[in-house]
Amino acid sequence: MNIDTTATVAGVQEIGHWIDGAHRPSASGRTADVFNPATGAVIARVGLADEEEIADAIASAERAQQVWGSTSIAKRQAVLFAFRELLNARKSELAEIVTREHGKVLSDAMGEILRGQEVVELATGFPHLIKGAYSENVSTGIDVYSIKQPLGVVGIVSPFNFPVMVPMWFFPIAIAAGNAVVLKPSEKDPSAALWMAQLWREAGLPDGVFTVLQGDKLAVDGLLTSPVVQSISFVGSTPIAQYIYETASRHGKRVQALGGAKNHMLVLPDADLDLVADQAINAGYGAAGERCMAISVLIAVEPVADRLIEKITERISRLRVGNGAGGADGEPDLGPLISGAHRDKVSGYVDIADHDGARIVVDGRGFVVAGHEDGFFFGPTLIDEIPLTSRAYREEIFGPVLSIVRVETFQEGVELINSGEFGNGTAIFTNDGGAARRFQTEVQVGMIGINVPIPVPVAYHSFGGWKASLFGDAKAYGVHGFEFFTREKAVTSRWLDPATHEGIDLGFPQNR
Ligand code: NAD
Repeated sequence: MNIDTTATVAGVQEIGHWIDGAHRPSASGRTADVFNPATGAVIARVGLADEEEIADAIASAERAQQVWGSTSIAKRQAVLFAFRELLNARKSELAEIVTREHGKVLSDAMGEILRGQEVVELATGFPHLIKGAYSENVSTGIDVYSIKQPLGVVGIVSPFNFPVMVPMWFFPIAIAAGNAVVLKPSEKDPSAALWMAQLWREAGLPDGVFTVLQGDKLAVDGLLTSPVVQSISFVGSTPIAQYIYETASRHGKRVQALGGAKNHMLVLPDADLDLVADQAINAGYGAAGERCMAISVLIAVEPVADRLIEKITERISRLRVGNGAGGADGEPDLGPLISGAHRDKVSGYVDIADHDGARIVVDGRGFVVAGHEDGFFFGPTLIDEIPLTSRAYREEIFGPVLSIVRVETFQEGVELINSGEFGNGTAIFTNDGGAARRFQTEVQVGMIGINVPIPVPVAYHSFGGWKASLFGDAKAYGVHGFEFFTREKAVTSRWLDPATHEGIDLGFPQNR
């Protein structure tokens, strides 16, 4: 697709907003650099919205929603089907955009698009999911029914690590249900949102129903405090998720705010250690560990730790780190981190582990990819004997760093998982069905894998963690998604009939 979403100013691409169905360059005078993480080069600048641009985006969405919210279900469904077909046909263009600005390897970028597309496909079936209910003759001649209506204008604030999939957890369902969406993407990879906006336009979505507002805290605060915006769907780090939840709630909005994670994988001695080592590599180092469902800690129930470390170390030696777009040797296994600052932060956590007395088995610090010396690369890192008091064990690292903790019993492993701040995802590896069943009952985590390392639920089961991984009551997509993006009314109806009319009665209505 040839997207007219950018302008070039003094040789640098300027990425703007998408308002009223068209690209609008930002006039705020505030910008953020957008990098290609594989080369370290600035490839564009994204405009950061000012108050006027925020107000225009919200006002455009409000106007559009008034029409879209009363557009027939059949017409809305036709637009969703068209969007799904266009996305399916052109998704490789979108994958290239994701890899260029995020850094993840192309096949992984495609993977996130396909998981997002599942939610689009779920949303095409929305008529069935926004149906109300009807109870006939609840009292003599009286019927009660419920109807589900759109909220109005809804805000989505997304993180850098899934610039397609995370917005798609929300917007297909929000739009299907008759809302208008204002999406504030991460300023680190802002182009995918514009591509999707143009695709909506081609699918026939009326202008203003899908708006992209580029920006930073100012834009987010504009959405949080606007009386027009009815709900906020946020995904990002825990401190910001908590801020979003508290601020949006204070302004009377419905909020779902998904936060950070520190996911553990519990390995029982009866598991097949070769299969476990493969899965630990996939879940620990895939997307360079920049996944909220990445495995960060492997808890080995002894005596398997030494053998696992040997197997994981051997596999790490075969991993190829490089430009996610591929090169003469094809596609690497993992790409760079999102920024130089983030690479330094990840490196700092390995320093902390080192300082706290952990054993650094494989050290990814200072990793350089030949020909990409300025890229933000960090090598796969394996840490053993990490003290449980170390910040490197307790906090989210969000890089290709896997730590091993040794325990003696299953129960000790479960207690360790439950003692953490987060409760996003976890996995158990075993051939013991009874142990797996106990695990799913006892563990205080929202998404559980049994021999599945990254248990991201399919679109018709909702996604969300427990504890500091989710603020609010509604998870993303699935039935929760349709509940979140609709508001219910209950109607009690009687057609007055002289034959059953009972005259004046000031008592509280009773059903007889
Ligand atoms: P982030 O919290 O820094 O940013 C997320 C969004 O919030 C961005 O759009 C950003 O512009 C905005 N933002 C940042 N600071 C803000 C502030 N002070 N006030 C208002 N808005 C602000 O997160 P990130 O670094 O983009 O993404 C990585 C984080 O997201 C990790 O912690 C990861 O675990 C989490 N994540 C969670 C899930 C999940 O489902 N739970 C999924 C993906 C990512």
